[in-house]
Amino acid sequence: MNCPCCSEKLYEECCKPYHTGEKNAPTAEALMRSRFSAFAIPNGEYLMETTSPVKRQFHNKKDLQEWGEINEWTKLEIVDKPSMNKVEFKAYYTDEEGEKQVHHELSTFKMIQNRWYYVTGEFLD
Ligand SMILES: [Zn+2]
Repeated sequence: MNCPCCSEKLYEECCKPYHTGEKNAPTAEALMRSRFSAFAIPNGEYLMETTSPVKRQFHNKKDLQEWGEINEWTKLEIVDKPSMNKVEFKAYYTDEEGEKQVHHELSTFKMIQNRWYYVTGEFLD
């Protein structure tokens, strides 16, 4: 199948190696894409694992998994990469009522021991 992150690559050649732990995402953008795919699949465990350890207390695997399941994740658009550790994106999805939604966020990532983690996000209009 094509990767849910809209890279136009096969899932096996794109986000899957990150999801299985075979490889670590080499850039903040690659991690961001793999997290979008992890909502689409969904893979709540991967979403927890790639959240910064100090921020994990504010999230839980079950909620992330459910958020992935109840929505249909249709498209990811990378809007901007203002720096090494920031990615602005729009995630398009259809919610459980069938309404089309866009989640526009400027995310901050951090590299810890050669692995990228999601730290926080600023929601944009
Ligand atoms: Zn991908």
